[in-house]
Amino acid sequence: MRIGIDVDGVIRDFITAFKSVVGQEYPNAKIPESISTWKFEDDITDLSREEIKEIYKEKFCKQCFQEALPFSEAVPAFWTLEKWAEREGHELIIVTSQIPRNRHYTLSWLGKYNLNPKQVIFAKGKYKWIEDIDYLIDDSPVNHKYWVENREDKDNFIVFDRSYNKDIESKHRINHLLQIKEIVERG
Ligand SMILES: [Mg+2]
Repeated sequence: MRIGIDVDGVIRDFITAFKSVVGQEYPNAKIPESISTWKFEDDITDLSREEIKEIYKEKFCKQCFQEALPFSEAVPAFWTLEKWAEREGHELIIVTSQIPRNRHYTLSWLGKYNLNPKQVIFAKGKYKWIEDIDYLIDDSPVNHKYWVENREDKDNFIVFDRSYNKDIESKHRINHLLQIKEIVERG
């Protein structure tokens, strides 16, 4: 099986990195402890949408992407999945949406943590369903919507559980990467 795995919100903690940049550079802007909505920009009322985009896409993209930390357990879990995939004949494919000029930050981030997927695909979230993958592990309600609208294998979208995606109705919802093994093995 070709198993697609998203990066931000699944293995990399972009939001915490973004919050720490805002805390340092925009100390007067308040950010709630827990992000309640997929459009996290809506939770940050002290900064405009344009300012927020400028922070993570331009001014502080390195801090938000290359220097962001992995979620706890994500790196050793990925290594375990790599061994499992190799043994069982599966392929781990990173499927991540990054703007073209910032893609290298994600590639070097994967290298920094010694993560070795079979392939890295850069695809906009709403088009991830088009890619040649059998499963997608992702935290985005939008990506889920497009997957179920367009694919026959609707249940093969595995939601990675986060505060902002509780409303997604899906057969599979996980909070640890190793749970992928069980789902794929059950078929
Ligand atoms: Mg994501």
